[in-house]
Amino acid sequence: MSEKEMNMDAPIVSVRDLRISFGTGKNQREVVHGVNLDVFPGESVAIVGESGSGKSTTATAIIDLLPGTGQVTGGSIMFGGRDLTRVTRSEREQVRGSQIGFVPQDPMSNLNPVWSVGFQVKETIRANGLAKGRKEVHDLAVDVLKKAGLADAERRMHQFPHQFSGGMRQRALIGIGLAADPQLLIADEPTSALDVTVQRVILDHLSERIREQGTSMLFITHDLGLAADRADRIIVMSKGEIVESGPSRTILEKPQHPYTQRLVAAAP
Ligand code: ADP
Ligand code: MG
Repeated sequence: MSEKEMNMDAPIVSVRDLRISFGTGKNQREVVHGVNLDVFPGESVAIVGESGSGKSTTATAIIDLLPGTGQVTGGSIMFGGRDLTRVTRSEREQVRGSQIGFVPQDPMSNLNPVWSVGFQVKETIRANGLAKGRKEVHDLAVDVLKKAGLADAERRMHQFPHQFSGGMRQRALIGIGLAADPQLLIADEPTSALDVTVQRVILDHLSERIREQGTSMLFITHDLGLAADRADRIIVMSKGEIVESGPSRTILEKPQHPYTQRLVAAAP
């Protein structure tokens, strides 16, 4: 699909002049300085930029999971006709999970080590109202793990995160992120905790899943090569601002901003 064709649809998410700060009182410091971005239906968009450039902060603000003292101090996040910065917490919670899925960076810190993987999938299913009744919830959880590529899902339901390899944990998290068949999946460096060969396999799996489900994706990575490989469009962030954005090929072949030119030159 060309950019023009895609742009005829309304964007799934539309972020305007988004400002985000950490800290309180005198120590409040703005780290995202007026970001604008859209993700259109069926698109995969990557945010790239070196560590500390504000990628995670921007992405987690969209799903209302800013860490610590993080808060949105300006701008809007339009999703499904509503500005998510102006709705109630419970409305935001309802959108998160059921309409916007999230795949976090670190598979260990985002699965609770004391709960079985199956229980955590079932909790997600229950929290999002995807199934009712013990058996329906259980069956859907098995289905989610099977789709995530976990062989012998029925048995592995009862196992704990430490009994899974890093790649398998990340597959389970992708399964959880996609369980509700969200319109948008936000993946924050979804493979950076894994070794390079496992990264490829997991990204292939992720790409296949979002294609199957027709999910749009906002994909965060510090790896420009990976972004170019996986995304239709790339947004380049530096120091809390977007310095350049465009179709992946254009960014890779004709980078305009000096920062992007350096990223391209440094990419393997
Ligand atoms: P990236 O994901 O691009 O590596 P982040 O969005 O995590 O960057 O960070 C952007 C800026 O926000 C950095 O200056 C970082 O130090 C700051 N920051 C991120 N998380 C926190 C936090 N929990 N508390 C205070 N500052 C934070
Ligand atoms: Mg980050």
